[in-house]
Amino acid sequence: MDNSESVRVAVNIRPLITTELLNGCTDCITVVPGEPQVHIGSHAFTYDYVYGGAGSPSSAIFDDCVAPLVDALFHGYNATVLAYGQTGSGKTYTMGTNYTGEGSNGGIIPKVMETMFKRVEATKHSTEILIRVSFIEIFKEEVFDLLDSNSATLSKAEGAPFSKPTAPGRLPIQIRETVNGGITLAGVTEAEVRTKEEMASYLSRGSLSRATGSTNMNSQSRYEFIVHYIVSSRSHAIFTITLEQKKIASCPNGVNDDISDDILCAKLHLVDLAGSERAKRTGADGMRFKEGISDFPFSKASCIKIAIGSISIHINKGLLALGNVISALGDEKKRKEGGHVPYRDSKLTRLLQAYEIEDNQAELEHTSLQEKLDKELKELDKRLEQKEA
Ligand code: ADP
Ligand code: MG
Repeated sequence: MDNSESVRVAVNIRPLITTELLNGCTDCITVVPGEPQVHIGSHAFTYDYVYGGAGSPSSAIFDDCVAPLVDALFHGYNATVLAYGQTGSGKTYTMGTNYTGEGSNGGIIPKVMETMFKRVEATKHSTEILIRVSFIEIFKEEVFDLLDSNSATLSKAEGAPFSKPTAPGRLPIQIRETVNGGITLAGVTEAEVRTKEEMASYLSRGSLSRATGSTNMNSQSRYEFIVHYIVSSRSHAIFTITLEQKKIASCPNGVNDDISDDILCAKLHLVDLAGSERAKRTGADGMRFKEGISDFPFSKASCIKIAIGSISIHINKGLLALGNVISALGDEKKRKEGGHVPYRDSKLTRLLQAYEIEDNQAELEHTSLQEKLDKELKELDKRLEQKEA
């Protein structure tokens, strides 16, 4: 891929959904025909690509933006696809993160799977290929393994295909630095997959545990439900495909010429980011919200708002750091001078930089996210009682 194209931005405009139509909403965005430009009111915005709008074929976004990355993956290049936008804007739909393996889904991830396994099939006589997947979630600057069977609590009887019947709260994964400056995720699940169906089953297993988190949906109070909602729209989900190739014979059409006698290894990160609605709110704003507790009109609802305020600080950190990394990567001049890319400013950007996976389960830090949230909210409740007394 051309160097100047290290970051490309595509916009996918979703149509109005039924409830919006019923509420009398109308489109506020127009696409300039033949140009990657949109108009919102009197403002014009130009991107690398614009999709959606009337008559736009759904496969174009994959063909133009993602297929070249899958091709690059087979040549040993790492790549990342990020879906950014506010909650409800269509990130999960566009990425296809909720694909269950059944029927067709126009999303990016199912198309990646299909393309990859077609290619594996076509080169299997000349190349030995090992494909692994991991699926993690970053919430409040903590990393969780969505494929860990302890993560989900729905039992088999309740419809979850993989999880254990009674699992404790989720345990965060530790990020470690290796001697050569790489990153490892201690003990994260890396599942080997041989078919598209197998890969899809891990995707849906992870999506399910993202959606259900660590509480049992059946015994949820309204308050737990709200905390839950915060978790799923405030977290970043990263589905990573690792491809390892080893040449066993020369391919007649030369497709595996990049592979020497060594193993060629590359990763594709497919990221469904947290809702961007709070990204513009500064960390200080969130802080003020928290500090303002003493003179806040107390109620259970306000406690929850305060919890949201403090969570947003961390989410901002990931999204803001991501913005800075993308700006640095997109700045051609800076990159040519070997300029600094601030990957280290958040967990999200550190993970996307590059990581290796280390099997180090014993050293995991056993802190449960749910415990932390509960503690935070209990403290607020206590202060509420004091205030009322
Ligand atoms: P997000 O993940 O950004 O919160 P979703 O992907 O859940 O948003 O999308 C919100 C709603 O809009 C869902 O009901 C989804 O089915 C619908 N939607 C999103 N994108 C499209 C699209 N391109 N075409 C049709 N419906 C869409
Ligand atoms: Mg979503």
